[in-house]
Amino acid sequence: MEYPLTLAHIFERAGKYFGKVELVSRRPDKTIHRTTYGEFHKRAQKLSNALQRLGVKKGDRVATLAWNHERHMEAYFGIPLMGGVLHTLNPRLSAADLSYIMNHADDRVLLIDDVLLPVWERFKNDVHARHVVVWTHGGPAPAGFLDYEQLIEPELPSFTPQIDDEQQAAGVCYTSGTTGRPKGVVYSHRSQVLHSMSACLPDALGLSMQDVILPVVPMFHVNAWSIPFAAAMVGSKLVFPGPHLDALSVLQLLHDEKVTVAAGVPTVWIAILEALDKEPQRWNLKALRQMVVGGSAAPQAMIEGYQKRHGLHVLHAWGMTEMSPIGTICRIKPSLHSLPEADKFRVHATQGLAVPLVDVRAMAESGEAPWDGKTMGELHVRGPFIARSYFNNPVEADKFTMDGWFRTGDIVTIDPEGYVRITDRSKDLIKSGGEWISSVDLENALMGHPAVKEAAVVAVKHPKWDERPVACVVLREGAKATPEDLTHFLEPMFAKFQLPDAFVFMQAIPRTAAGKFLKSALREQLKDFKLEK
Ligand code: AMP
Repeated sequence: MEYPLTLAHIFERAGKYFGKVELVSRRPDKTIHRTTYGEFHKRAQKLSNALQRLGVKKGDRVATLAWNHERHMEAYFGIPLMGGVLHTLNPRLSAADLSYIMNHADDRVLLIDDVLLPVWERFKNDVHARHVVVWTHGGPAPAGFLDYEQLIEPELPSFTPQIDDEQQAAGVCYTSGTTGRPKGVVYSHRSQVLHSMSACLPDALGLSMQDVILPVVPMFHVNAWSIPFAAAMVGSKLVFPGPHLDALSVLQLLHDEKVTVAAGVPTVWIAILEALDKEPQRWNLKALRQMVVGGSAAPQAMIEGYQKRHGLHVLHAWGMTEMSPIGTICRIKPSLHSLPEADKFRVHATQGLAVPLVDVRAMAESGEAPWDGKTMGELHVRGPFIARSYFNNPVEADKFTMDGWFRTGDIVTIDPEGYVRITDRSKDLIKSGGEWISSVDLENALMGHPAVKEAAVVAVKHPKWDERPVACVVLREGAKATPEDLTHFLEPMFAKFQLPDAFVFMQAIPRTAAGKFLKSALREQLKDFKLEK
């Protein structure tokens, strides 16, 4: 029973039992590359040997700057197996953030896609990685860089894992926050194994060797929700989209590879739904049993659109970098199956129930909020794959409570059945005349209007009410809607004081590097916006 929980076990299992299972990757030139867990098992060990030869020591951070592909997967295991700490970098961040993060993590080696070298060029002078290894696509790496294939080629395909203890660090991710400096979260071998176990359970992601999984969510965003670890544990086939994350490219892969489970942020799924609505017969998605949506709130209209128009099932999940990341997943309890359809969709659009090993509570000002589906509080979480501090960052210590919980900053209600519903980020809630207004509820409702493609609601200062909601709206191509139309549409669903005071129509809503609405930018844009009294 005193067996250490380490990624070495998952890795060996993938090699022993699932050697013939495929790993499929789409290359930047759109060609398809096929390999197997068997090949991956050999090449990841070659990488471990090569990193040791480069002088990487136990505990050293090794960074990656790459899209989703099978060689990135080799790094996911090759680095932690040799005692290194996998540090995935997000190429969509600014050069200033990237250099800050690399210096803060003190990365020793960087593994990078050749197509992302222009990103590296923008911050390379501000960091000091000792070696930069390039994943090329034909031809050797440019001068001054190490070539990945040449680096691992002479090495032996076997390696004795350098893991002394399950609490050893296996990876680190930085939060792509919308304010302040990015913060590092370190995952241990033990936390990654327990997270994988929890993620695979039937009422969580429900993954198995019968599955073909396409993580659209990038491997640089909380380890693609740790799907690569979970998939290797149970032997699911993996399909990596490379840099091609547009709706048509993803749909083609779902069709060609008979994908059963795909995962991504709402933006991706909104675009895919639009493409499916235009050409419903073009793709055969019969194999696709669930689309996992998380990272920001999945609009109910989208969930309903998939189910009613295409017979496709959306699985709404919530999580955070600090949680490895899965926290809650929405599946309908059998006792709720008899609910009328409209009520069932309302439940589907909640963030769901805490997955096994995660505890949740909502804290209101007066103490723990009752599970009544009405009282709002800040969501606190705890469990064996939730961080207890940030990496070398004592400033943020107040995010962790004295009694062992992590304060998520998300404002929620929890209903009597345990379904968590996120009403807002604490900083995005709108306080008007002493009453709280949920921006998420307004956004969800607006995105149910046929002319609305996207909506983000933010608080704007008001002389009398302190703050009032203003809706920023992107209309669908060719669609029309006036502020009056939208107000009429919202009226039956909201109290009068909750309705937006104004609608601002725009071409696009600014986003964070992880594809979430960048509300701080909207607030800045609207700071001089004059509201009528
Ligand atoms: P990150 O650490 O970048 O993944 O961001 C975590 C934050 O994203 C959470 O604290 C939530 O505010 C937001 N988030 C993630 N998933 C959801 C979801 N399903 N619904 C609403 N917000 C979400």
